[in-house]
Amino acid sequence: MKRIVILGGGFGGLYTALELEKTLARERDIEITFVNRENFFLFTPMLHEVAASDLDLAHIVNPFRKMLKRVNFFQGDVQHIDLPGKNVAVTHGTEHHPHTLEYDYLVIGLGSITNFFNLAGLEQRALTMKSLGDAIYLRNRMIANLEEADFECFLDQRESLLTYVVAGGGFAGVETIASMNDFLRKAIGFYPHLKENQLRIVLVHPGKVILPELGEKLGSYAQKKLQERKIEVRVNSRIKGVTSQGVELTDGTMIPSDTLVWTAGTSPNPLLMKLPCEKEKGKIQTNSYMEVPGFPGVYALGDCALVPDPQGKPYPPTAQHALRQGKVLARNLAVEIRGGQKKPFVFSTIGQLASIGRRTGVANILGFNFSGFIAWWMWRTIYLSKLPSFEKKVRVALDWTLDLLFNKDLVQFLTLRSRTLSNSEAELSQTSEVA
Ligand SMILES: Cc1cc2nc3c(=O)[nH]c(=O)nc-3n(C[C@H](O)[C@H](O)[C@H](O)COP(=O)(O)OP(=O)(O)OC[C@H]3O[C@@H](n4cnc5c(N)ncnc54)[C@H](O)[C@@H]3O)c2cc1C
Repeated sequence: MKRIVILGGGFGGLYTALELEKTLARERDIEITFVNRENFFLFTPMLHEVAASDLDLAHIVNPFRKMLKRVNFFQGDVQHIDLPGKNVAVTHGTEHHPHTLEYDYLVIGLGSITNFFNLAGLEQRALTMKSLGDAIYLRNRMIANLEEADFECFLDQRESLLTYVVAGGGFAGVETIASMNDFLRKAIGFYPHLKENQLRIVLVHPGKVILPELGEKLGSYAQKKLQERKIEVRVNSRIKGVTSQGVELTDGTMIPSDTLVWTAGTSPNPLLMKLPCEKEKGKIQTNSYMEVPGFPGVYALGDCALVPDPQGKPYPPTAQHALRQGKVLARNLAVEIRGGQKKPFVFSTIGQLASIGRRTGVANILGFNFSGFIAWWMWRTIYLSKLPSFEKKVRVALDWTLDLLFNKDLVQFLTLRSRTLSNSEAELSQTSEVA
């Protein structure tokens, strides 16, 4: 029996598992175990739509058990990877009890985490935008702040409740702030003591133009559109820290705000730090076959790896690269076990798109620039086609259609248990029943 263990259920890990499901997983002498912290795959390009109440939270996630029939899924937290010993320590269950998974072949696709660069107060106070929980948390925060501000008697408190700062003018930051802006400006109409002009929504970006990956022309277009929609775009600006008073910029400006969303930095998964393989900036250096040199049978891909292109430069950390790497990696793994010729990973970026709210977008596809409604329509069409499973595609398309007809939902997703009686209250209640 040959054992394959895949770590991480993001774009890289999932597409490796899906490809293996069609090939090696059918064979009796192969056992494949796929480990992820959550029991679902998150489609990150649509995450901002959940935060802004455009999409139902369950519609951008897919449970692995519905997608994989032959590959074994293990919901757990990877604690340690022992490359020389060929095993992985994982914990799972409510009590986090430990398991050891031995392997002959290992695929590492553990992605990245948010990096706060040790800025004061960020780890404690800033919100992030990486997981489904983050999107739900942000949505809840916006609704809670509107509810509180509607009855808030202290003026300065109201100001900080209604001021939102997003740090980072890359794809995640721009899409997030555009969606938040649309949501807040529509939602505020339901709060009789509040007015739209009390909202202040600020994007802080360290560069000259936002969305630098799309070039200056599209970046400037996006910037102009956001400003027309009353978003304050502060370019050449950096966050110094965040306190209970608000968000402080390096030029000394203090923005009184209760909410900072940090999308301005990532770093590789900290689990990789202790791995005895070659790394650069914390990422695993692989060869073009995605093999980890010095450790036969070990592969790495996606945001946690540096996979070189034919010129030797690393591929960028995007979903379109990670999912294609997964397919090639799975085929190389099959070749390693069954024989044949491995193929290097070679791919040219097709394009990049961003949705910037109110049915507008910006896109660069095969070197051509698009903006406005057409780019937004392309964003929706392309990402809908990429969303795994027909069921979820239909659900998202229905959500988008219903969004044209109805106002945005303002329900807070609270996870509080229903109240039960304490011992003393229970005694009292029995006495009153007897009486
Ligand atoms: C808000 C947002 C929007 C984005 N939009 C786009 C876009 O429009 N287009 C695009 O191309 N890219 C986009 N990206 C980037 C894209 O999501 C990543 O490049 C891609 O997800 C990388 O895939 P991956 O498999 O390497 O890592 P990930 O998708 O991050 O997956 C890593 C997986 O490993 C799991 N994991 C991590 N640590 C452990 C552990 N210790 N134990 C168990 N499991 C663990 C995580 O739970 C996760 O499921 C976006 C990213 C974000 C955050």
